[in-house]
Amino acid sequence: LTSEDKKIILDSIRDIPDFPKPGIIFKDITTLLSTPDAFNTLMTHLENRYESYDLDYVAGIDARGFIFGSILADRLGVGFVPVRKKGKLPYTTVAEKYSLEYGFDEVEIHIDAFGEKEDPKVLLIDDLIATGGTAKAAANLIDKVGANCVEACFIMELAFLNGRQGFDAPVYSVLEID
Ligand code: AMP
Repeated sequence: LTSEDKKIILDSIRDIPDFPKPGIIFKDITTLLSTPDAFNTLMTHLENRYESYDLDYVAGIDARGFIFGSILADRLGVGFVPVRKKGKLPYTTVAEKYSLEYGFDEVEIHIDAFGEKEDPKVLLIDDLIATGGTAKAAANLIDKVGANCVEACFIMELAFLNGRQGFDAPVYSVLEID
């Protein structure tokens, strides 16, 4: 990714201070999605990166990971699998709890999400990694249902939160935010 391409993507993402609560700077990717050259530059970069990975699936995290994940899966000619917040998936699920600042949250995956193939290769994707709690829970789910998370990919990484620490799989982020 050239520095010009990086800038095109970065400039298309908006900072919204104090959303959803005071002190949080929310990285708003809706403006990336509505800027065709930035969106296309990003998706082409991801397609080029993952072409050689011989993936079987892309798994996206609810909800913004669905957008990037499904486009990438389609471009690579592989299946897409959603990792969802609790209570949304209709068939039998496997669940994983993870802790938040206060309390906990839970993500789920369909028990048969990755089909019959032995040890399928899965790329996990989301828009942003902060503490890493959500993505680690999602990676554990991929593991629990018998697949292999070969990498976790994020459009943005809040590097100062060290969310990538403790990840079993390699972590790749397009943009690191200090
Ligand atoms: P975490 O589990 O702490 O890594 O949080 C990651 C999840 O929360 C991802 O699904 C992100 O989309 C969302 N998230 C956390 N912090 C932000 C932020 N500053 N801006 C936008 N989304 C965020």
